[in-house]
Amino acid sequence: MTTLGRIVFFVLSVNLGACCQSVMCSAKELVDDIKNCTLDDFIDLDGTELASPDIQELVASIRAELGMKDFFVEVRLTEIETSPAFVAGKHHLFINEDIFRGLNRDEQRGIIGHELIHLRNNHGLKSLLISSSIYSPIGLVLYKVLQDQLHRSKSWAYKFTARLVYFSMFLGFYKCCSIFVHRHYEKEADIVSAQELNTAESRISYFTREDLLEKNYLNSEEYKRKSLFERCKYSFQMFFDPHPSNAKRIAYLQKLMQSKEYQKSL
Ligand SMILES: [Zn+2]
Repeated sequence: MTTLGRIVFFVLSVNLGACCQSVMCSAKELVDDIKNCTLDDFIDLDGTELASPDIQELVASIRAELGMKDFFVEVRLTEIETSPAFVAGKHHLFINEDIFRGLNRDEQRGIIGHELIHLRNNHGLKSLLISSSIYSPIGLVLYKVLQDQLHRSKSWAYKFTARLVYFSMFLGFYKCCSIFVHRHYEKEADIVSAQELNTAESRISYFTREDLLEKNYLNSEEYKRKSLFERCKYSFQMFFDPHPSNAKRIAYLQKLMQSKEYQKSL
């Protein structure tokens, strides 16, 4: 190789090396960003208060049992009545004190354990990333089909209807993808927390009671008096609930209780 050839080879290798290094650095930064992205910055904490010391202590003791001693969790109160507790981002646990205090100690442990597993295993971010990855290709095809149709038609009514259909399909498909992923992580949180805290029994009694309450409500005069629209809305909400049904949760927790692994850990 001539001297000029060697110089060119040297310059090219250095450049190639630098390019590879910068690509790898950016890829690493991207991965770090994704790892550190907790969505906590998007949580609206206005009007919420920190939970009382006894609840904070209970959460801290369960965190220790789950090996999350160094994992920061901010426990706040909420007035949302859909469940006794829920999590947001990677470090926020919200508790509805009125509902929560109506539960016995074992049920409280079971509920907090379930929520903490969501945080420890980063379920919020994973759900978002996985549901959008499943949905994106479907959404792209839908969008392409709609665009082709819109270009062909001159009728505003047709265009309006096509857009309406697209958005309802968009919402429907996305909702289905996200429910599918959510239910998977709900099951994971139920099983892992029950396994690590031995709370399968209290979880089963909680879901059995919830199931009975739901059945009683559906048979009640109050429900029967509701308008058809209200009843359809209720069934729709049940159908698209991101949690598995109470019956399913009871069934897989019972299966877990019968497993040798669980029996051994008791
Ligand atoms: Zn959950």
